Amino acid sequence: MHDSELPVVIIGAGPYGLSIAAHLRALRVPFRIFGEPMQSWREHMPRGMSLKSEGFASSLSDPDDSFTLGRFCESAGLPYKDVGEPVPLERFVSYGTEFQRRLVPQLERQRIERLDRRGSGYTLMTSTGEELSARCVVIATGISHFGYVPPELDGHPPELVTHSAAHTNLERFRGKTVAVIGAGSSAVDIAALLSEAGATVHLVARRSAIDFHEPPVEHRSLRARLLAPRSGLGTGWRSRLCTDAPLLFHLMPESFRLRVVKRHLGPAPGWFMKGRVVGRFPMHLGTSIGGVEVRNGTVCLTLHRKSGGSTTLEADHVIAATGYKPAIKRLPFLADELRDRILTTDEAPILNRKFECSVPGLYWVGLASANSFGPLTRFAYGAGFTARRLTRILAGGALRFEADPAAAPQSSAVG
Ligand SMILES: Cc1cc2nc3c(=O)[nH]c(=O)nc-3n(C[C@H](O)[C@H](O)[C@H](O)COP(=O)(O)OP(=O)(O)OC[C@H]3O[C@@H](n4cnc5c(N)ncnc54)[C@H](O)[C@@H]3O)c2cc1C
Repeated sequence: MHDSELPVVIIGAGPYGLSIAAHLRALRVPFRIFGEPMQSWREHMPRGMSLKSEGFASSLSDPDDSFTLGRFCESAGLPYKDVGEPVPLERFVSYGTEFQRRLVPQLERQRIERLDRRGSGYTLMTSTGEELSARCVVIATGISHFGYVPPELDGHPPELVTHSAAHTNLERFRGKTVAVIGAGSSAVDIAALLSEAGATVHLVARRSAIDFHEPPVEHRSLRARLLAPRSGLGTGWRSRLCTDAPLLFHLMPESFRLRVVKRHLGPAPGWFMKGRVVGRFPMHLGTSIGGVEVRNGTVCLTLHRKSGGSTTLEADHVIAATGYKPAIKRLPFLADELRDRILTTDEAPILNRKFECSVPGLYWVGLASANSFGPLTRFAYGAGFTARRLTRILAGGALRFEADPAAAPQSSAVG
């Protein structure tokens, strides 16, 4: 390691980047972290939505679990329940921001513009033009850059077609006709909020029904708990296995892992959205988009019904709430040469059990690691497992470093 080379740089300051930073700080590993805190939640989700994950599954992770969402709400006098009390987006953003202020004060609110390989380490360039070197880099850029628009809707001007991530304030659609494409929580949340903001909404989805979550039951019988245990990803043994055994998941054959990540926990809005959606606006379910045409500044969608027949839907705007796909070619800061050396499956990096890709010292967390560790790492709940494991690896074997005397003392909770 060169004198000026940092042991670790973290790119990204969402739930994963901030949790990893809080654990590294407690371990006195010198590091720098870059990004806007909670940016995906603050700038790329619609105001007025609530989290789908229950309160107990919506915390960032610090070594002592000393600053959970529950603790934050208690100290701020805000309502909180482990289950059954939807967490408003604004409350979660305030919590994450306060977590950053208290536990990751050294966050640098700059973007990384370029990441390249140099020797056995990495060089990075920030948005202020600073160049730095690092031995290891953790890519925690989450869902940013990964918004997926299906080919039939791609390539249209943003005045007419956008991804759901483009919207926080839906007021500008008052009086307009908007088609929302998708059947998951993004689609349903946006459709409900648009309708409440005075837009004429049409929800279009291939699925024949919207699969709302069941409302949680606070006190469950022993039998119910045995048949379908609770987990941070919902009830049921499959979800429980996903939260409790991500390393076992990693051992499974690749085809199995990809199938589970695609199918388990498919599109499903929160239980609390049902009353704001059903009967409130037309839903074109069991319908796929056969064609898209722009006529006189409006978008005409040809919709094919699964049951047969077609119809046309004319809208001022189309919002593709069609999810996220972790394709590394979409990360604008990755140098071409480095990107070409990263082995991928289905466009996402192949990771070993240490979160490391085929280029040594380059670690991926969050959505980009889901094909390796399972659906757990698509959600904030996976930040605890990831931060504990990855920081032990970084502090233990992957690095030799001088402990940072200015960092927080090592916590007994990390080991
Ligand atoms: C509508 C919607 C609802 C959701 N609801 C839930 C829910 O209820 N519960 C749940 O657990 N999950 C939910 N999710 C999933 C959620 O996005 C992830 O759980 C969570 O954001 C993962 O955190 P992260 O830290 O990996 O990434 P993100 O939160 O996406 O954070 C990415 C960070 O990377 C930074 N960044 C990006 N590019 C750069 C760069 N070049 N340089 C520096 N920094 C950069 C950003 O500034 C940001 O700080 C939802 C997602 C959506 C879209």
